[in-house]
Amino acid sequence: MSFESLGLSEALLKAISKKGYTTPSPIQQKAIPAVLERKDVLASAQTGTGKTAGFTLPMLHLLSQGQQLRHRPVRALVLTPTRELAAQVFANVKEYGEFLDLRSAVIFGGVNQKPQVAQLRQGVDILVATPGRLIDLHSQGVLSLSKIEILVLDEADRMLDMGFLRDIERIMKMMPSRRQNLMFSATFSKEIKRLANGILHHPVQVEATPENTTVDAISQKVYRVAKGLKTGLIIKLISEGDWKQVLVFARTKHGANKLCKKMISAGISAAAIHGNKSQGARTKALAGFKSGSIRVLVATDIAARGLDIPLLPHVVNFELPNISEDYVHRIGRTGRAGASGEAISLVSADETTYLRDIEKLVGEKIPVEIVEGFEPDPNASTEPIKQGQGRQNSRPRNSNSNNSSRSGNRNNRRPNRNNDKRSDSRRR
Ligand code: AMP
Repeated sequence: MSFESLGLSEALLKAISKKGYTTPSPIQQKAIPAVLERKDVLASAQTGTGKTAGFTLPMLHLLSQGQQLRHRPVRALVLTPTRELAAQVFANVKEYGEFLDLRSAVIFGGVNQKPQVAQLRQGVDILVATPGRLIDLHSQGVLSLSKIEILVLDEADRMLDMGFLRDIERIMKMMPSRRQNLMFSATFSKEIKRLANGILHHPVQVEATPENTTVDAISQKVYRVAKGLKTGLIIKLISEGDWKQVLVFARTKHGANKLCKKMISAGISAAAIHGNKSQGARTKALAGFKSGSIRVLVATDIAARGLDIPLLPHVVNFELPNISEDYVHRIGRTGRAGASGEAISLVSADETTYLRDIEKLVGEKIPVEIVEGFEPDPNASTEPIKQGQGRQNSRPRNSNSNNSSRSGNRNNRRPNRNNDKRSDSRRR
């Protein structure tokens, strides 16, 4: 299938070929025609599948064909859970829309609102936003959503995880009820299905990869290792393997910082990216990592969510996530757009239960290796690490989220953050 056969305009085809894409990805093949037919869409897709172009291209097509009002009210809104994802979607909108007469803007918290306000005042067709800043600016009367024709909820599952349900509900009330709705989510919990039922009308359902299965191109490996030897082992793997670009996941901000310092002491250029870092620091770290001046990016789950790092060869779980689905998100960073990748997990005794739950979720046993000199501690307890005891990512249950009705193993429960719901700065 070609992009031409999807019925996209010449201006979009030109931008697509400038990007170097030749064939639409599976999610694009399914989502683009449905969106062009003005249908609501519920798409199961994680980052790396080409989902952003899957909604951006047809959205731009429809907007460019539609009636252009002189004062340019916002006609399309893309809501994202994190600033980084907002910035990336915005960059995509700019690139794909290069040859169209449409204006776009991005708004998120953590930065001065003045330039955002100035831009909104000039008129914007497409707005990419995180919920907190959007509500702030709306309540200040700076923007109106009364002319919205298309709404996109990107990474809806993560928005719920981050406690944005109430904000989403508020935002829905700011928009006309007659509009086209597109919802993208990597996972489909009961909460997501409920949200979808409330927002979408007879949606076309599209799926990029089967839910919760691991991308085939990724080779996975577990190193069983004593907890205290993990830092030594990861440094050895990176140095001896001469890995040039490694994304490392740590469970906490503190852990990410500590590991980053140790890497630097060992002569490996590294940067940490997490919710305590300023927007400037995060952007700089990501740019350094993409350009190759930083070899190792140590990230927490939420900070890394949605980062567009193409063709990532190595992902390392320095610690396994206590939410099994996060494992799938993490390793989805490698093997993007058809390239092969390697996902490695350093697993100590206390993570045994997490590993078992992850294997259950992905439906396969992950091969195990032990490196001489970095053996696991045979006397260590296999009791899981207690979440929320002195750890920075203790995530209180959200009383709004109906979590109490959930059963099953603890790792598949998706805790919500219920603190500081309005700001965008609650990342791990
Ligand atoms: P996304 O899932 O939207 O984060 O996109 C993942 C990566 O795939 C990005 O780097 C895109 O630029 C790239 N991409 C998107 N669509 C295509 C395509 N049709 N062909 C090749 N690469 C693509």
